[in-house]
Amino acid sequence: MQLFQLDVLGYWGAYPEAAEATAGYLLTTDGGRYLIDCGSGVLSQLYRYCRVEDLTAVLLSHCHPDHAADMGVLGHAALLAGMTGARETSLPVYHAAAPSALIKHWSQDPWLSFHPVGDGDEMIVGDVRVRFRQTIHPVECLSMRITHGEKVFAYSADSALCDSLLEQAADADLFLCEASMYASQEDLARRVGHLTSTQCGELARDARVKQLAVIHLPHEGDLDVLTTEVEAAFGRRVVRVGTGTRLSIGQR
Ligand SMILES: [Zn+2]
Ligand SMILES: [Zn+2]
Repeated sequence: MQLFQLDVLGYWGAYPEAAEATAGYLLTTDGGRYLIDCGSGVLSQLYRYCRVEDLTAVLLSHCHPDHAADMGVLGHAALLAGMTGARETSLPVYHAAAPSALIKHWSQDPWLSFHPVGDGDEMIVGDVRVRFRQTIHPVECLSMRITHGEKVFAYSADSALCDSLLEQAADADLFLCEASMYASQEDLARRVGHLTSTQCGELARDARVKQLAVIHLPHEGDLDVLTTEVEAAFGRRVVRVGTGTRLSIGQR
């Protein structure tokens, strides 16, 4: 059976809670390790599993700090790995168009190589196929549909409700979908480019996903209520992730 698993490094929206991290996910296959987003606290969590020299690529959905704050220190780690010979090639970073000042800042580290991608781009990275689609968010942001063998993993990144998310998640074995807000906050969610719990659940239901894990969680309110709202819309149980949650994609 092919290895295709996801480790949750961080799942908070906005900022991390104590000893935890914002968005960051380690996708592991037989032939590669992929870091999806690199938010605040993510590098520290990553080192529980592997080192920067072990990474095949970084896939960065967008440049908001809760998804990209640790890019600077990731660059330092890659630089040191290169200098000591632990890493022999630069670490490729596939990313949505970001403010040039940020890319310029990050690319000072020569052991990171930046590859801008956009809406509809589809490519082989290591031993997975990745399709990027633009979401609705205040900055350019890309969701991802990642295929390995017969199995499909989808990641919403940050987004208000949009058709491209439905396409990305269609029939996915695992859909990691943001639910940044409660059901009652639909107007606010639309304005700031996020999903409510109910929208998350309905989206996953309409996309016929096999397993739904809820991420990018808010700091206020009761997360049990949020989860109940997602499940009511989805019609089934969902996975409420924590730091270190491991999900085997398509092997429930
Ligand atoms: Zn975010
Ligand atoms: Zn964002």
